Amino acid sequence: MGNAIHWFRRDLRISDNSALQLAARRGDGVVGVFVIDDRWFPAHTGKMGAFQAQFWLESLRALSAELERHHVPLRIVRSSDPVKAVVDLAHKVGATLITFNKDYDPDQLAMDRRLERTAKTNGIEAVALKDAVIFEEFEVLTGTNSTYTVFSPYKRAWLAKFQPAHAAVSGPPRVSRRYPMVSDPVPAGESLGYPKVTLPVPIGEAGGAAMLEEFAKHRIGFYKKDRDYPALNGVSKLSSHLSAGTVSIRQCVRAAIAQGALRGCGGAEHWLSELIWREFYKMVIFHFPHTVRSAFQQRYDHLQWSSAENLVTAWKQARTGYPIVDAAMRQLQTTGLMHNRLRMIAAMFLTKDLDTDWRIGERHFMQALMDYDQASNVGGWQWSAGTGTDAAPYFRIMNPILQGQRYDPDGVFVKSMLPELSNVPAKFVHEPWMMPSELQREYRCIIGSDYPAPIVDHNEAREAAIKKFQM
Ligand SMILES: Cc1cc2nc3c(=O)[nH]c(=O)nc-3n(C[C@H](O)[C@H](O)[C@H](O)COP(=O)(O)OP(=O)(O)OC[C@H]3O[C@@H](n4cnc5c(N)ncnc54)[C@H](O)[C@@H]3O)c2cc1C
Repeated sequence: MGNAIHWFRRDLRISDNSALQLAARRGDGVVGVFVIDDRWFPAHTGKMGAFQAQFWLESLRALSAELERHHVPLRIVRSSDPVKAVVDLAHKVGATLITFNKDYDPDQLAMDRRLERTAKTNGIEAVALKDAVIFEEFEVLTGTNSTYTVFSPYKRAWLAKFQPAHAAVSGPPRVSRRYPMVSDPVPAGESLGYPKVTLPVPIGEAGGAAMLEEFAKHRIGFYKKDRDYPALNGVSKLSSHLSAGTVSIRQCVRAAIAQGALRGCGGAEHWLSELIWREFYKMVIFHFPHTVRSAFQQRYDHLQWSSAENLVTAWKQARTGYPIVDAAMRQLQTTGLMHNRLRMIAAMFLTKDLDTDWRIGERHFMQALMDYDQASNVGGWQWSAGTGTDAAPYFRIMNPILQGQRYDPDGVFVKSMLPELSNVPAKFVHEPWMMPSELQREYRCIIGSDYPAPIVDHNEAREAAIKKFQM
């Protein structure tokens, strides 16, 4: 045998980690490596944002401590060529095996193919395992062996194929002999140019496990009923953990099943369905890599977007004058997260009301979200823009006033994010410009000075968007 390298990417945990287990089984000693990819991390690249960078770096620090307890040193390498960094390390420690868990995003897939080729020419075996999903690219296909492009039949086929054994969970790896190497310190976000932020959820494997346990024990039963109301604590907030791999998909699916997801228990069943959405988008991005840059439905590639800079800036800065949109964008700015219902509202507002190219919004979310995941983000944006798989039909455009009134009827969420509206009564909270001037004075919310007037007229923008899609 020889030593093994495990390349950590979106799997920052020691438990239930498929490829790490393999490295421990096959290697004499195991060395972990995490590459701080210069093309992603330093703040100035404009790719990974402050919330996600801090979540990852803090989780990495916790991972390093756990790995130490399991006799695995962790190297942290800064490089713009991860493949070279990993293969160089393999040479250094005399590794005959490199393991990593599979990713389905096109750029990462290309890098993984390169790693496999480079390792081979260097006489090193590279093995990639399924870990991030229950079923991967060719496991859930239609009767004619093609890819599902609509969610509901995909979900039916997924559920028909699923056996509880697919969600079997393994423990931490057993490494018999520690490779004599000192773990590297994990850099602070500040050293990579990031401002320090306050994270809204606990980090690392322990944080993810505690959140999953709390959600499954106390709240999953209410998920179906509460999930659309941003003022309620109705969702799991586990997306940053699923994206960094500090919790495994099998742990989540197992928890959902234990709460009755396969026995028709509404909340758990619905939550499992959301986990399947995540998997659906991973399969879509694998089979249709063009969707990262262009419309899934290619007939919409010709659409011209005006993408006016002043409107896009107002949207990013939570100054559109539509409270539910601004509260959503304020939540993103201040927490690195945004409730799912609000993501749909904010994304639809940018693409339809502000006639802005969905890629501009997708990129902004990439830089701002703590749970950024390319497949789900591209999927969510194309859905909202009406250009994606299963997309919202182009004529079904969310009305930000009605959405606010329906999902935040008393304005509790909006007020929690926009204190400038805190005195405005519920009747006006989603359309404060309708207040006569004496009420604006009484509630200390003068439109145009304390809070902006709407930057576009929703009804006019809606008609223009429908016309554009019909052309
Ligand atoms: C425009 C837009 C952009 C999005 N960008 C991302 C992103 O970058 N990263 C990301 O993880 N999710 C993204 N989503 C999906 C969804 O909004 C988040 O996964 C969800 O809000 C996370 O909150 P939660 O963990 O409390 O989810 P819960 O409601 O508790 O759901 C559990 C898990 O299921 C998965 N999930 C839930 N809804 C979806 C969905 N619609 N699509 C795919 N997976 C889902 C997530 O992994 C989530 O953590 C986006 C949605 C839209 C409309």
